[in-house]
Formats: sequence, C-alpha cells, structure tokens
Amino acid sequence: MGETMTGVYLPGGSAVRLASVPVPVPGPGQVLLRVGASTICGSDLRAIYREHLGAGPEAYQDVIAGHEPAGTVVEVGPQVRGLAVDDRVVVYHISGCGRCADCRLGYQISCTSPERAAYGWQRDGGHAEFLLAQARDCLPLPPELSMVDGACVACGFGTAYEGLCRAAVSGADRLLVVGLGPVGQAVGLLGGRLGAPLRIGVDVSERRLAAALELGAIDHAVTVDEADDAIAELTGGAGCEVAVDCSGATAGRSLAVRGTARRGRVVLLGEGARFDVEASPLLLHRQLTVHGSWVTSTYRMAELLDRLARWQLHPEIVVTDRFALADAGTAYRLADAGDRGKVAIIPN
Ligand SMILES: [Zn+2]
Ligand SMILES: [Zn+2]
Repeated sequence: MGETMTGVYLPGGSAVRLASVPVPVPGPGQVLLRVGASTICGSDLRAIYREHLGAGPEAYQDVIAGHEPAGTVVEVGPQVRGLAVDDRVVVYHISGCGRCADCRLGYQISCTSPERAAYGWQRDGGHAEFLLAQARDCLPLPPELSMVDGACVACGFGTAYEGLCRAAVSGADRLLVVGLGPVGQAVGLLGGRLGAPLRIGVDVSERRLAAALELGAIDHAVTVDEADDAIAELTGGAGCEVAVDCSGATAGRSLAVRGTARRGRVVLLGEGARFDVEASPLLLHRQLTVHGSWVTSTYRMAELLDRLARWQLHPEIVVTDRFALADAGTAYRLADAGDRGKVAIIPN
C-alpha cells in the first residue's frame, strides 16, 4: 500500500480541508482497515463542521473526521486475536478505557476515563483511505450487509435500535417518530421489524416526510402543525404507546410526550436543546416512562448487525448521496442543507 493517504479535516466555519498524511501502522491490539464507507452524522455538523462547539466527549481535536466507518482489515498488529486480513468490520465509534463499569457493559460511549477517544473526534476517523482501529472496537460485518450498511449501523441505526430496545417496542405498540432525519428513518424501519403495527412520523420538512413514506419507514406522514390532531385521530384518541424524539428540539420533545398514550414510554434520542414539559399533567398523572438514550453498546450493535442480516433490511436505503473522498466538501455542504437522507463518503 502507499506511504501516504488523503484524510478529511473539519477546521470549522463550514470548511473541509484535505491533507496528505502517512498511512498508520498498527501497534499492539490494533488493526489497519481499508475504509469501505464512512457516513456523515448530524453530530458532525452540529458540533464540528459549522463551528467547533463540543466540549468533553464532543471536543474535536483536529483529527481526521468521520465516526461512522466500516472497512476491511488489511494489516493486523501484534497481540490481536480473532481478527484477520480480509475480515469485514464495523467500528464502534468510541474507544473506551475498557475497565470502567460503562465499558464493561459495552457502553464505551459513556466512558468518562481520560483514555476515552471517539474516532473522528479525538482520534483519527473514517474519512480517509485507511483507519487505525483498536481490534476490540471492531464488530464483524455479516456477508449479507454492504460497507455502506455497516457505516449506517456504526452510529445512526445503532442509536435507533438502542432506543427501541429501551422502550421494549413490540407488536403491542403504536409508534410515534418525531424528526425524520436518518436516525428517525431508522427508528421507523426498525420499529416496523420489531412489530409496531402503526408508525406515525412527524417532521417540519415535507421532503423528509415524503422520503420516509417512500422508504416504508412510516405508515402516516404528519406535518408539525396538524400533528396533535392527526395523532389523536389515527389512534382513536389514545396516542401512541411509544414515542421516540429524534428532533433534538424542545418543541419536538414536547410533541412526543403529548402524543404518547397513558402508561406509555417516551425515548429521547435527538441531541441538544432542553426538555421542557409540564411534569404533573403530562408525565406524572399519565404514568409515563421517559428514557434518555445515548448511542448504543457493542453488544446491542452486534445483535443489530445479526438481525439486519436475517431481516434482509439494508440500512443503506436511507443513504441519498455518495461521494468520493476528494468531494468531501460537497458531501458536507449537502448534508448540512438538512433535507437530504444520509450522506456517505466512499474513500476507496
Ligand atoms: Zn453519529
Ligand atoms: Zn471506560
């Protein structure tokens, strides 16, 4: 392989910078991946691309961007067991300390050790031809799934699946999805596979509503203005047993709570803003359970990969645009326009 590779950096101010850097060499416990796909996430736009807003686990440290990678092992470092050249893998996008309670549970996302590093935030990510990964962060990608499928699971579909599992969604539950970006679409698609017999989707964008309907992610598309009345009408006045907020907006979260049936469950997945509802009438007196959920665990991600293969559900159906590494600037501009589906960078 070549001595150098191209990497994509996000200096802030909605800019994208390409740089030539050395191809890394795997050390103990590490593997080198040839990146097959690396998708762009809403959090990359929110906390890095527009300006560097993040602190703590979201502080961008001028590394190669991209935290949703899938790739093929091309080189194995010393002391790696269970991975070999040509293995196809998805990278769980946070490398934790491996010793704290969160890491032991597989939720490296919640690790608070100074050793914790997220790919694309504090250590080099997937927007490059090659990626240096810890072997323990790599999950096998089933042969039925593509590299773009894998990249979609690395963050978005994993996050959606975790939220649905927290609420234990089943055939008994009508499902309300507020916010139909890529994570909201994933919630609808996976919720359907888990048995939800009715899925109502709400968004401010007509284009996203139409796209979600066309994908089969929802059964009914509802605009924000008509949402309360439409949810009541579609559920015989009861509301949905489970509501998932993927908007990350205060008003979106309130709508999700109002649209939840008595004794139902609300899951908050969208990042940012505030949660601001009248606690007694909306939550306490209606006996609601509210789940806050952040990404997923390595266990759940592996389970999802297995189920996707059996369901023959390909996450890449939410991808609307694919770009080469050299066109990363265009990819980010398009993703930031806010009414597309998932945007993918295909480095090789
Ligand atoms: Zn993400
Ligand atoms: Zn840890």
